[in-house]
Amino acid sequence: MASAFTHGFVALSFGKLMFPERMPLRFWVLSIVCTLLPDIDVVGYYFGVRYGDMLGHRGFSHSLLFALLVAVLVTVAVFPAVRRFSKQWWLLVVCFFAATASHGILDAMTNGGYGIAFFSPFSNERFFLPWRPLTVAPIGVRGFFSRWGWDVFMSELLWIWLPMTVLLVIVYLIRKQRSG
Ligand SMILES: [Zn+2]
Repeated sequence: MASAFTHGFVALSFGKLMFPERMPLRFWVLSIVCTLLPDIDVVGYYFGVRYGDMLGHRGFSHSLLFALLVAVLVTVAVFPAVRRFSKQWWLLVVCFFAATASHGILDAMTNGGYGIAFFSPFSNERFFLPWRPLTVAPIGVRGFFSRWGWDVFMSELLWIWLPMTVLLVIVYLIRKQRSG
């Protein structure tokens, strides 16, 4: 994975870009949950699932289909008042999908571990993006306060936080000008 902070930050940025209006707290909380959810596959370790299996790390839970299922389920379960298949409903689905799928995409930009099974369960082939500037983050907290943790922090700051913040500021300014 990339670090949890960065996964969360990307999800919140998507939310802000897609919904300029005020959103309820549960929307933001769920965006973060969605973006961290794919790493539940580490639980498989304890049940003897091997890394390269369909349910192994960076397997099905990092796929696009998983992201879509999560997005629809979350929207239906947590926003029942939003009329199904309305514009607002689709926006929510797209936003939760983007949050969940962004996890695999960030992972595919890291320089270590297995590739991502984007098309699981149809194909277990593992992919990386052609461009992998992120230092892979250690799982667990201990490794985080090390030289390794520092490299993770710097690479994510440069390649994710900085461009994302610039994008948010630009969009904010455009919106402000339009409404002003
Ligand atoms: Zn992951």
